[in-house]
Amino acid sequence: MKPLPVLCIVIPAYNEEEVLPVTAPLFLAELSSMVEGGLVSDESRIMYVDDGSRDSTWKIVEALAAQDEHFCGIRQSRNRGHQNAVVAGLMEARGFCDIAISADCDGQDDISAMTEMVRRYHEGYDVVYGVRSSRETDTFFKRFTAESYYKLLARMGAEVVYNHADYRLASRRVLDALSSYEEVNLFLRGLFPLVGFPSTEVAYERHERMAGESHYPLSKMLALAFDGITSLSVKPIRAVTGFGLVVSVASFLGVVWAIVSFALGHAVSGWASTTCIVCFVSGVQLVSLGVIGEYVGKTYMETKRRPRYVISDRTRR
Ligand code: UDP
Ligand code: MG
Repeated sequence: MKPLPVLCIVIPAYNEEEVLPVTAPLFLAELSSMVEGGLVSDESRIMYVDDGSRDSTWKIVEALAAQDEHFCGIRQSRNRGHQNAVVAGLMEARGFCDIAISADCDGQDDISAMTEMVRRYHEGYDVVYGVRSSRETDTFFKRFTAESYYKLLARMGAEVVYNHADYRLASRRVLDALSSYEEVNLFLRGLFPLVGFPSTEVAYERHERMAGESHYPLSKMLALAFDGITSLSVKPIRAVTGFGLVVSVASFLGVVWAIVSFALGHAVSGWASTTCIVCFVSGVQLVSLGVIGEYVGKTYMETKRRPRYVISDRTRR
């Protein structure tokens, strides 16, 4: 008989001292029930990735690791953001597990969906995407922006799973393949479909946060959304080029019009129109330069090949 797979549940945590003690027992209960059900090995672990928290998060992780051998943790040398924390955890997990599930630590991703994910793994799937079945607990604003965003990404030609965030199971060979994607402009939910392998989805209900508050303010959400588009698609550059062409043609017609009016003697003292055109064209140029600059900046960051995470501490495993 094949030995049971070792599971590692990877949980990023940034300043989560309030919620950690609430959800840790829930994760442990879910893991224990999977062990008892003969789905995963008892060697499985729940690994916290402390993303450079400034509160007592790391202390709590250390205490959990001391209490129960199923808990372990790594700590990033500073706050690097959620995506980098997840990658750090997945790459660390790759060293000892057969499957990894990444999940938020606030209990918003329904913890009980993990059993279903592992069952799908046993059916032969390498990637299992957790997909939100409803967004009732989200505000109208969040729901609307998120759903429009998924549609926009699809239009841009980027392949993402609709309503899937970072709650997913990945097998060891997927993690191995992921490790060779060395980009620092990370948007994990776009990377997994690129890696490939058989995949499926498990629907779950998104809950309210169990304690504490969100660390994803609008600014971070917008940054992630922007990263998502620019890391997966070059269509904005093409759109700028296309727009530039249209504006150039229009400007050319404008010039012809100006010369013709001049030749016909309708010499207009066209201060206003000139100013308008100058403003409009320089506006368009600035926007275009901005979009191009965004990609140039990203290229610059990628060429540095900086590490995506630095681990400063580890609990025993
Ligand atoms: N998180 C992180 N680093 C950050 C911000 C957030 O590791 O810089 C973690 C956080 O602890 C949580 C997950 O990412 O486990 C999702 O964050 P949060 O719940 O604040 O976001 P929301 O669910 O509101 O979008
Ligand atoms: Mg959350």
